[in-house]
Amino acid sequence: MLNIILMGPPGAGKGTQATAIVDAFHLPHISTGDMFREAIAQGTPVGLKAKEIIAAGNLVPDEITIELVKERLSRPDCEHGYLLDGFPRTIPQAEALDKLGPEIGRPVSLVIDITVPEEELIRRIAGRRVCPSCGASYHVDSMKPAVEGICDRCGHELIQRKDDNAESFAVRLQNYYASTQPLVDYYKEQGLYHCFDGMVGKANLEKAINALLEEQGQ
Ligand code: ADP
Ligand code: ZN
Repeated sequence: MLNIILMGPPGAGKGTQATAIVDAFHLPHISTGDMFREAIAQGTPVGLKAKEIIAAGNLVPDEITIELVKERLSRPDCEHGYLLDGFPRTIPQAEALDKLGPEIGRPVSLVIDITVPEEELIRRIAGRRVCPSCGASYHVDSMKPAVEGICDRCGHELIQRKDDNAESFAVRLQNYYASTQPLVDYYKEQGLYHCFDGMVGKANLEKAINALLEEQGQ
């Protein structure tokens, strides 16, 4: 069973790889970032709480995030596998998932971490454009869509995320090192951890991840 966690700093290419993985292996793509952005767009109670926190680059409180994922992971479409993108991001979130996963018969089977040097993360985030409809990511110089400003995948207009500015990015990176990085050792200890170099290029990275998933999915 492919019950996957995809992790990596902001700008590592999680979203791009997530899109490729879910298309290839027919898994539901569970991105907590996308779920929060949707909640904000719809003005739900969670959205109202998360809006300022996310714009500033901070993490949404664990209780709210864990509740959201619990509900989503329990839906029938996760029965044959799932891809978690951006969750867990803290040790308490990982512990909650370690409890929930087995409870619902859906324990995590592997963790994919994408690593990229900090200068490159800064470049990527500064030029990033995203599709608010399907979640696909582009870059103004190095990953242009076929038609400027339009999503290749679904035709929606692209936007720049509110938290993709220098100030919020610095906060996100700090939070990443302080709260998310410790998950590396956490999952190494469980024997679930797989690390990938995020500098090899989109297609090569996709190939490397694919090879692992094909082997694990047997
Ligand atoms: P990125 O990985 O590019 O920073 P995401 O789209 O994954 O972006 O997340 C955007 C924002 O949503 C995060 O900066 C954070 O504020 C919030 N968020 C997403 N996932 C979580 C999580 N698991 N726990 C807490 N906050 C989260
Ligand atoms: Zn799209």
